[in-house]
Amino acid sequence: MENSKPKLNLAVYWAAACGGCCVSVLDVHEKLFDVVAAANLVFWPIALDVKYSDVEAMPDGFIDVTLFNGAVRNTENEHMARLLRKKSKVLVAYGSCAHLGGIPGLANLSTREEIFKRVYDECESTVNPDQLRPLTVSSVGEGSLTLPEFYNDVRSLGQVTAVDYYLPGCPPQTERLLEVFMAIVSGASLPPAGSVIGASGKAQCDECTRLKSENKQISRFLRPYEIYDDGITCFLEQGVICLGPATRAGCGVRCVKGNAPCRGCYGPLEDVKDPGSRMMSAISSVIDAREAEEIEKIVENLVDPAGTFYRFSIPSAMIRRKVL
Ligand code: SF4
Ligand code: SF4
Repeated sequence: MENSKPKLNLAVYWAAACGGCCVSVLDVHEKLFDVVAAANLVFWPIALDVKYSDVEAMPDGFIDVTLFNGAVRNTENEHMARLLRKKSKVLVAYGSCAHLGGIPGLANLSTREEIFKRVYDECESTVNPDQLRPLTVSSVGEGSLTLPEFYNDVRSLGQVTAVDYYLPGCPPQTERLLEVFMAIVSGASLPPAGSVIGASGKAQCDECTRLKSENKQISRFLRPYEIYDDGITCFLEQGVICLGPATRAGCGVRCVKGNAPCRGCYGPLEDVKDPGSRMMSAISSVIDAREAEEIEKIVENLVDPAGTFYRFSIPSAMIRRKVL
């Protein structure tokens, strides 16, 4: 790509993340040449040996765009979120974890102590008779070793610092990233700060081509392995929970096209505050029963309701965490 404009400074950072978002950036394949023609990568821990101290030494606003993926789980994540905010003109919450808290946010269903107990005392592969815990500072012969402090709560990026844009997905579709990046490079007018970008205003169901009837009736919830999916009928009508009615479109309905129900990683629709409760209300309206006892029976075979309805959004949902 010919580009006479000065190059942008681009940073990519991962906090409490699985690495999938960083890999999705690499998924641009040969388009990477367009990206490097338009931008200097000034910080990207997965690929470049640039130290935190190098970022600290950058003038404020030096980075044009930072793609921040991952949730905020510990003091290091929070320090980097605030530092990159200061150093970046545009801070993008990239992926479900930064956007809504994501999969790491499911840890808000436990306390820090419960997590430590499981990991350091009870885990089948751990031998720890003295029940030691990680220390934020340990003295060794060579000096002091430090570890970040593990918070009790997982938070989304927007709960820690001001975010300019949210690019949803677990991970975001690479095509959407390229569109957004090229729009920034070309100086196209961007939506107001705080907007969700790289996604549509419609629901997944609006773009899904599976057959759906007006009057869905569910008399039993089933898990995907319990049905012989015919590949053409709406998952909900086959009794499998699909979060399409409450989830923003933008991924190309990839999971459903791959014969898996939508899990909700693109987050709630514009007017929805709490994706889980929106989905529960959609589900309750299609339960095929009138008597309380019957309804209870149907709902009882719903496995892992919190993980089903709030898989990507607990920290930013109304429940936020398990009540202590
Ligand atoms: S949004 Fe998904 S792919 Fe990205 S870091 Fe979180 S869990 Fe991984
Ligand atoms: S609920 Fe799922 S399968 Fe059914 S129409 Fe919506 S996205 Fe498609």
